[in-house]
Amino acid sequence: MGKPDNKPAASSGYSSWREMPAVPVSVPCKGSIGATGEWRTFRPVLDAEVCIKCGICYLYCPDGVIIYKEESIPEIDYTYCKGCGICVTVCPKKALGMVREQE
Ligand code: SF4
Ligand code: SF4
Repeated sequence: MGKPDNKPAASSGYSSWREMPAVPVSVPCKGSIGATGEWRTFRPVLDAEVCIKCGICYLYCPDGVIIYKEESIPEIDYTYCKGCGICVTVCPKKALGMVREQE
């Protein structure tokens, strides 16, 4: 296992999760103040036409709410997605963008 460099995938040149060092992936659940999806003011949306199914967004999501199976387009669990935008930042193809939540 290589030493983690703590750089975002987009700037470190990873093209797939397979090139990244091993990282723990958490499982989302309801906390004492409810589901984290209620915190969101912006939500990530994925353009399936642009996504290359690399899985990097899945590994970087701090809440483990991106559901990814190899060779498939990731899905986002909006019940727990808190809208932090990290997935948008690390996507090497800019397949993810943030849109404001509707009132
Ligand atoms: S916005 Fe944050 S919590 Fe939501 S899917 Fe992206 S990385 Fe995960
Ligand atoms: S949304 Fe971006 S980071 Fe996620 S699998 Fe698709 S191309 Fe990779």
